[in-house]
Amino acid sequence: MTTKKTFNDLGLSEKTLDAIIQKGFEKPTTIQALTIPVMLRDDTNIIAQAQTGTGKTAAFGLPLIEMINENSKAVQALILVPTRELAIQVSEEIHTLKGSKGIKTTPIYGGQAIDQQLRRLKNGVHIVVGTPGRIIDHLHRRTLKLGGIEHLILDEADEMLNMGFIEDIEEIMKHTNADKRTLLFSATMPARIKDLAKKYMDGYEVITAKKEQVTSNLTEQIYYEVKASDKFEALCRTIDIEEHFYGLVFCRTKSDVDAVATHLGERGYDAEAIHGDISQAQRERTLGSFKRQKINILVATDVAARGIDVNNLTHVINYSLPQDPESYVHRIGRTGRAGNQGTAITFITPNEYRQFMFIQRIAKADIKKAKIPQVADIITAKRKKIHDDLATLLADKIDSDYFNWAKKLLDDNNPTEILAALLSYSFEEELNPDAYGEIREYGQRGKKGRRDTSDLEGKARLFAALGKKDKINAKKIVNLILSRVAVKPNQISGIQVMDKFSFITVLFEKAEKIVVSFQEKGRKSLITHARKK
Ligand code: ADP
Ligand code: MG
Repeated sequence: MTTKKTFNDLGLSEKTLDAIIQKGFEKPTTIQALTIPVMLRDDTNIIAQAQTGTGKTAAFGLPLIEMINENSKAVQALILVPTRELAIQVSEEIHTLKGSKGIKTTPIYGGQAIDQQLRRLKNGVHIVVGTPGRIIDHLHRRTLKLGGIEHLILDEADEMLNMGFIEDIEEIMKHTNADKRTLLFSATMPARIKDLAKKYMDGYEVITAKKEQVTSNLTEQIYYEVKASDKFEALCRTIDIEEHFYGLVFCRTKSDVDAVATHLGERGYDAEAIHGDISQAQRERTLGSFKRQKINILVATDVAARGIDVNNLTHVINYSLPQDPESYVHRIGRTGRAGNQGTAITFITPNEYRQFMFIQRIAKADIKKAKIPQVADIITAKRKKIHDDLATLLADKIDSDYFNWAKKLLDDNNPTEILAALLSYSFEEELNPDAYGEIREYGQRGKKGRRDTSDLEGKARLFAALGKKDKINAKKIVNLILSRVAVKPNQISGIQVMDKFSFITVLFEKAEKIVVSFQEKGRKSLITHARKK
């Protein structure tokens, strides 16, 4: 998403530039730098392709804002979007970008009381952002007139086609004037989109933002090879080893989404489901609580998660393999945004290996095989967190009732014993390794995809007291080790970087050398053997 251009170079007005500053955008994204000048130049039709999360809304929203005539009360632009969530999101984005201009925009979608929408339409709206079904309703009721619009924008066009909106779109187009300008924005460009453009757009310019620019290098991409029946256990371990997991879990089908979310709930996680069969109102509530981080796990289908814009995600989990390379790229584009570190983890079953390699090759993604977090490592992580939480507690003022109680307990008991009893009372369940099920581990595969059975033998797991908080990543850890011990980089594997610490797998014979090389007199060693269960 890098471009040398600044917003000042694109032909936008002072008012709009002010609004951009207010909004906090510093630099245009590539698709914005490419689209905005063309939209402002003349009235060419455009089809623009750029991946999810690259700011397509502002790419058309900003020039649109420039071109709206505030003094007219007529609807001048219609933006069609596939879902209610997007209608609201796009409408809000435009609202925040319009700055001091007196532009009115409103979302129009099914599920919302129609008379409320009627009132807003009657009062005059310049930009309508709507879902196809409800727009057609209004056209039939003659409560919305599109015979004089300047701009028709099809946003997330690929998704609208995927959702079967083609006939609705054609119907809506019939109600519009021939001299309007049509703009089509899409994350992908399947043939059906080009057919649509050929049929309805009388000449158009194609703008494409290159793909490589988007797979964020702030996203660490790894995969686990697990049996289908072990996936859920692997998911729990993945969540548990993190100090603070905030992630999207993708499943292919609605019933998988329901099953995973329900099971997570049963195991005490704050997880919710979102997919097409869940009522709009419920979806919106769920999304709201996810955004506010009231829940930290959102289980979703691709369609339901499409266009959902949440920042700071620590993880994207591909619980089921994405259908194709593009969908892989979309899914993982949800993390590693805006300078934040993120991890994308794909679960593959052994017989999905080939399909997965295909995805990896086409998506030009560098996805490393990793070991599923080991129970012993999770327990270590949890203990560490308890330590930290206790330290925080000690820094705060503790209620005097507890002090008095503590004194009484200490008077009557041996301090170590009473503390041990208290810890066991509080954390026995949480720290019980038997709460985790067994997972069959699959070894590394060779170049041809054949499994190298020797892989898991003769290796040891190390614990490093360095993590993301120390600005550490897998590469830095490898370099650190290489700076002290001669190890071939391919003898180091399974690196997992957590918030405050990391795990590394190395050959047995090297493990000991590494541990020793990091020992310093009188100090806690930076790298030690990970505890075994
Ligand atoms: P897309 O439609 O391409 O998936 P969005 O328009 O939903 O992407 O934008 C994704 C996020 O990026 C939004 O939160 C938006 O406010 C933000 N964004 C857009 N343009 C910029 C920019 N130039 N600088 C920083 N953030 C931006
Ligand atoms: Mg979008």
